[in-house]
Amino acid sequence: MGIQVFNNCFQSAKSLRSLEETSNHKTGNSDISPCPTDSVRRPFAAVVVGGGLAGLALSILLSKAGYKTVLFEKEKYPFHKVCGEYISMESWKFLEDLGVNLSELNLPVIKNLIVSSPRGNFINAKLDLGGFGISRYFLDNKLKEIAVENGVSVHQETKVNEVIFNEENFSIKYNGGAVSAPVAIGSFGKRSNLDVKWQRAFTKQKNSKLNNYIGVKYHIKTDFPADTIALHNFKNGYCGISKVENDQYCLCYLTTAQNLKDNHNSIQEMQKNVLYKNTFLKSIFSEPEFLFKEPVTISQISFDKKSQIENHVLMLGDAAGMITPLCGNGMSMAFHAAKIAFVHIDLFLKGKISRKEMEEKYAAEWQKQFGKRLRNGRIIQRLFGKETATNLFIKAIKPFPFIINKLIKGTHGNPF
Ligand SMILES: Cc1cc2nc3c(=O)[nH]c(=O)nc-3n(C[C@H](O)[C@H](O)[C@H](O)COP(=O)(O)OP(=O)(O)OC[C@H]3O[C@@H](n4cnc5c(N)ncnc54)[C@H](O)[C@@H]3O)c2cc1C
Repeated sequence: MGIQVFNNCFQSAKSLRSLEETSNHKTGNSDISPCPTDSVRRPFAAVVVGGGLAGLALSILLSKAGYKTVLFEKEKYPFHKVCGEYISMESWKFLEDLGVNLSELNLPVIKNLIVSSPRGNFINAKLDLGGFGISRYFLDNKLKEIAVENGVSVHQETKVNEVIFNEENFSIKYNGGAVSAPVAIGSFGKRSNLDVKWQRAFTKQKNSKLNNYIGVKYHIKTDFPADTIALHNFKNGYCGISKVENDQYCLCYLTTAQNLKDNHNSIQEMQKNVLYKNTFLKSIFSEPEFLFKEPVTISQISFDKKSQIENHVLMLGDAAGMITPLCGNGMSMAFHAAKIAFVHIDLFLKGKISRKEMEEKYAAEWQKQFGKRLRNGRIIQRLFGKETATNLFIKAIKPFPFIINKLIKGTHGNPF
């Protein structure tokens, strides 16, 4: 099928929506699309697999530009995710342009950083660009609402099991049906069933300093300056604390799976035996009101290299490469990658570039924007967590807080 034919088929997202709204044929887990199996016959321009920040942002951009877009998310919005919930200011304008009215949300603006070592040495630094705090529970759901308002066909609680490229078209199979489209996006996060199915290289790496991490997150009520983010190091990990909306704080840490194993797979035991050795963490964990019964957790986190194109699927966000959370920039990278992908997908769907050009240009631009940041992130990740190295490092740079900003600059970009 030629590109010209695609162009003729892709009615605007809004006209598709009005068609669907007149139908009474709603499934329980779809916000818009009445019958997923019907969709096979509908000419979607793009299928987005994974409705985190990257997938939602791209689907909104595509739909706003008039491309019929379908998005699959295996969970049900709103839901909590392991994330430090500190977003670099890089993304502020992009999010406002997408339709998130950040300035009306009275969010904490974060300008100061404290970094402590496992032995309790610490350093204060002013953040040049800074960031803001917002929970993923709120943000992902807000973006989902904006996506739906803009005509994206959002299928939640729908896991994609297969993406097959066949003669210029993708066939996407999910629990209960299939859709097809000329463009497919893999925005399914850190590690998904599809990564394993496709045997992506990072899923086969031996355990190393760059993989097999776990993440743990709580929301708490506590007393901590709203304009500050603290990163407290402990043996084989670090824990961040910063404010989000509604007077709540996000307390989130990353550590090795081995640390948990050494503590009989008990999070509580690990916190007591390992995290509390840093006196800052001991006092943070002993004082607050914990707002979840159990923490949100994830495992098998890898910072190994990933490819940006997999069998013609454009990979986005953590699925294309994950920066270490210490750098606090994964969310902005996910948004920025969505913006970059949109430009090339748009040119392809308009017939101005070939598929090969779309893939090459996207991958090249991705590398240009993020390649160096990821490399810097990996270096920093190797340094932190080693008890003695972190202690010495914090002591050594204490008189030179500007070094912290230099390191941060090396893992961040500019507003986009
Ligand atoms: C401990 C920790 C702390 C962090 N702290 C910060 C921070 O403070 N600031 C920051 O900027 N970044 C932080 N990050 C990084 C940030 O969370 C990620 O970079 C960001 O979430 C990437 O967004 P994404 O859209 O690529 O993936 P995700 O948000 O993970 O979204 C992927 C989605 O795909 C869905 N999915 C997966 N497989 C399928 C399937 N087969 N079918 C359908 N749906 C599927 C998942 O359910 C998920 O919702 C942190 C990460 C960790 C691990």
